[in-house]
Order: sequence, then structure tokens, then C-alpha cells
Amino acid sequence: MAYTFFPSSVTMRRMTLRRSPRRVIALVFCLALIPFFSTPLSRAQRTTAPPKRPRLVLLVVVDQFRYDYLERFGDLFGPNGFRRLLRDGASWTQANYDHFPTYTAPGHGTMMTGAYPAESGIVANEWWDRASGKRVTSVSDETEKLLGGEATEAASSPRRLLSSTVGDELRLITNDRSKVIGISVKDRSAILPAGRHANAAYWWSINTGNMVSSTYYFNELPAWVNSFNNAKPADKYFGAKWERLISESEYVKRAGPDSPAWETVTNAGGDTNAFPHVITGGAKSTGRGFYWALDYTPFSNELLLSFAQQAIVNEQLGQDDDTDVLTVSFSADDYVGHRYGPYSQEVMDVTLRVDRQIAELLDFVQSRVGLSNTLVAFTADHGVSPIPEHAAALGLGGARIKTADILSALNAAVSAHYNPQRKSPDPTADYLLRFIDAGTKREWFLNGNVYFNYDALKRDGVKLDEISQVVAAAAQTIPGVARCFTRAQLLRGATSITDPIERRVLHGFYPARSGDVVVIAEPYKYLGDTITATHGSPYSYDTHVPLIIMGSGITPGRYFEPASPADIAPTLAAVLRITSPSNATGRVLLEALRK
Ligand SMILES: [Zn+2]
Repeated sequence: MAYTFFPSSVTMRRMTLRRSPRRVIALVFCLALIPFFSTPLSRAQRTTAPPKRPRLVLLVVVDQFRYDYLERFGDLFGPNGFRRLLRDGASWTQANYDHFPTYTAPGHGTMMTGAYPAESGIVANEWWDRASGKRVTSVSDETEKLLGGEATEAASSPRRLLSSTVGDELRLITNDRSKVIGISVKDRSAILPAGRHANAAYWWSINTGNMVSSTYYFNELPAWVNSFNNAKPADKYFGAKWERLISESEYVKRAGPDSPAWETVTNAGGDTNAFPHVITGGAKSTGRGFYWALDYTPFSNELLLSFAQQAIVNEQLGQDDDTDVLTVSFSADDYVGHRYGPYSQEVMDVTLRVDRQIAELLDFVQSRVGLSNTLVAFTADHGVSPIPEHAAALGLGGARIKTADILSALNAAVSAHYNPQRKSPDPTADYLLRFIDAGTKREWFLNGNVYFNYDALKRDGVKLDEISQVVAAAAQTIPGVARCFTRAQLLRGATSITDPIERRVLHGFYPARSGDVVVIAEPYKYLGDTITATHGSPYSYDTHVPLIIMGSGITPGRYFEPASPADIAPTLAAVLRITSPSNATGRVLLEALRK
């Protein structure tokens, strides 16, 4: 039946064609095209190479930059910085990190991999490494040596990053002719976006005032880096005065008074919470104290900018058709934001200044490479929450949940459950791993994660799932705690991905590195009491960041579709016509791609 039906249907279609004048015209048109398509390709067509890739991919990151800074200060930006990116690029107004915790390393580990911490393995700035029994950072590496730092200074490498980056993929397809370089004040922010197969990453040592790297990349610093360092470029800022860029009234209008009650500045090397800030670090001459203080000023961004320019020139970035990658992450904004809070005059000023610094970087790329040959992406690693006392004053429920209170509540619950006879010494005393905060020297716990001492649990026959539930239930009773998740719950997928908080916790959980109980505070409440302003939560003030891509193949405009910095790498990969990084889970931002 089917066999006989098929030819007759073709016949019917032919008959129909004959009867329809419009279809006849269409058929004639199609027939007319046949010779065109069937002609063998001309010589020119045969030898035409695929369209050229951009010569340079430039990722610009500002550490701790909320999306709303673009709007709050937009009319005060210069023409060639953010305004150029917004005018000539595609900008997503609803870009959020979809992971928890929202820290520097997870953010920087996401941008060029397209992978959340659950895939990149970069679950936090630091975590408990169960294999070695040590607290590690996202990039610490005892097997390498620091180049340009002090002999005793620890080295860093990308070995804990589990995903490939856009740069790695470019180097794979160009037989390593693509150059990939990452630059930042912070090691993690230089290393993670560049990737494991990068040519180099450079960051700043507050011990020596040098731009440093590690033996992971090469055995000695390139000559141009030594020349940069030998000129002691940071030292010219000793005693420099950081003043407001524009008139004070504009700062009062947008950020309020310079020294509100909640802007408590301690441990600031003799500096205060008011302009002008004189940068010495409380020291009589240049050295560690001063270099540390420089981090907290726009001058460290300036230093980074001049180093990036040197890298472009000396590494000849973007000078041929094998696409190079330069990632530049400006860190001063994060230091300033932590010390003074997002609504401070200082944050307003460092934002206006980073706009000028980015303008200078883009102008420089224009002169050396041409922006038409460059694919630029701009984003941030996270936002920031208001200072809790500020949020409290506004009635937003700001508060600090003291670390000591959390730890004592959790220890009390564990002791009550597993030592009901109140034996002394308490055998449960070592069940929870304790960490000392480097700044305050007080006990705290890492990243809102409780880690259990597995050896102690094994010794006493305590089941991990059970004690996790005991601790989660206790944490849930602490005022200000919103939610708790146990390892078993996350591993079993006993969570709902339609609940954004649960989804973000799941995206931030990597079993070998994350803790056993994850504690989430209510909005505007800090889990811990060690810092003036901070970030890390799964809430919009920490997750909502700018996302702009500018370059050939990108249709400029404002886009309101939901997006994430995890979408940057797959989108760049699509424009570059390369394989997406190994673990990329972000989406290609199709709405802005020219077909
Ligand atoms: Zn930070």
C-alpha cells in the first residue's frame, strides 16, 4: 500500500504544480537557479578562507561591580569607557550569577569557562582540602615557586580549575600560536579566566610591590616584566592623595555624606573613612604596609592598567590572525567596596575612575590592535550587599549573625545529641572543623559551609548524614538563618531547581571540596561579623552584574533576556567558531548574534 501510494502522491503534486500559475513561476525560478548552484566552484570560491576571527579577545572585569552602578553613575561616565561599551556592544540588563557563594574565585572561574563552580570545581576563594588535610585557596600550589615575590611567598597556579577556558580552546586549535595572558592585582583573578594552558598570568605582590607570576608558566619572568618591576612603578604613589574626581556635591547627591555612622573603618593603616585619603599604609616609606594600602585605592587599578598596556606591546597581542586572549581584572573596586560599602562616596569615586581606566585600555587597544579586530567582554565577579548597619537603618533587616554565636549553637546541638551524659572532656569537641580567620584571628567557618572532621566521626561511629541533619536543624533555629542544606540532600538532588536559592547552592557545590552543611542567611544579613561590607549571598545584590559583549558579529543593544556570566564563554566560542570550553553549561546569547 505505502509503496503504491508514494508515486501517486508525487504525480498528484506534479499535476497540482501544472495547474497553479504561482507554483509554475516558482518552479521556473528554482530551475533557473540550478545551473548557478551546480556550476563547479570558481577558483576564487574554492580558495576563500572562512571569515577571519578577531585578533584579540579582551575580557575586562571589575571586581565587585553591581549592575546598578552602570545606571547610578551612567551620566557621569566619560565617552570612551562604559558608555562606549553600552553604545557599541550588546548589554544584558538581567545578568545574574546562578551560583552560591558569590565570591571572587567562583566568579572568575565561571567567566571564561562557562561553568558553574559545580563543574569548574572553584567553589570558593578557599576551602578545606580533605585529601591533603589542609585549607587551600582556589589557586594555591605548593609545588610551584613564585617569580618576583619574596622567597617565602606562596605560589599559585590554575591546577584546581577543572574546566578548559576560551583561551585553552584557542590554543588547542592554533597549535599554541594563540597567546593567552591573564592580569590582575589578585592571583585568582589573573589565573582563573586565563586557564590551565595559558601562556602567563601576572598578579601583584604586596611584599615586593612587583607584578609576579609562578613557575607553573615559565622558569623566569620575561625581561619586559622585570623592566616594569625594576622601575618600581608603585612607589610613585607613596603619600599620594586620593581625592574626589568631580565636585563633592555630586557625591553627596548620589552617595550621601562622606562619613556616615555605618562606615566603620578599622585596620586601615592610619587612613580614615573620609576624603582625602593619603596613601602610606601608616608606613614611613614604601614597603609591605604601603603596598597593602595601595590595594584599597584607585591607584592600584592604574598600576594594573599600565602593566596591561605593557603586556599588549611586549607580547604583541592581537598582531596576527591567531586570536590572542587578554584578561584584565581590576581589583581596587572590591577592596574599596569592602572597606566603605556600596553606597559610599569612595565606591562612587573608584567607579568613576575605573570607567576612565577602562576607556584608556580600550583606546590603547584601538590604537594597537583596532577595536574592529577585537572581541571585548565586560563583567564583574559578583556584586555586594549594603553594610548591615546601613540596611538596618533603612529598615531592610540588615544584621550580622556573629560567627561565635553560630559555632556555639552548632557545637551545643552536637554535644547534646552525641554526649547526652555530658562526659568530660566532651568527645564531640572535635566533630566540627574550625578555621581561624586570618584577619581577626577568631574562629569562623568557611563560605557558609560546615565541614565535619571525618576522622573524629569515624572514631566514634557517628553517621555523616545524621550529624548533618542535627547541625542543619540547629542552624535553622539561629535568628537570621534562612535555609540550610545538607550534603546528602544536595548529592541526592533532593532539591528543586525551580527554587533559585536551591539551584544556586547546587550550582556552587562540588562534593570533594564543599562542606557538609550549607547555611544561607536571610537577605541583608551577614553570616559572620568580620568585615564592613561584603558579598557571597545568593541574593540579587550579590548576583546581578553587568554583562556586555562588543565586537564584530555582535548586534549592539540592550537585551532583557535572563543571562549569566556563564554565558560569556559559550557566546565567545560561538562567535570565534571554536569548541566551547569543556564544562560550559551557559547558553549562547543568540539574541545578540548576527547570523
Ligand atoms: Zn570581595
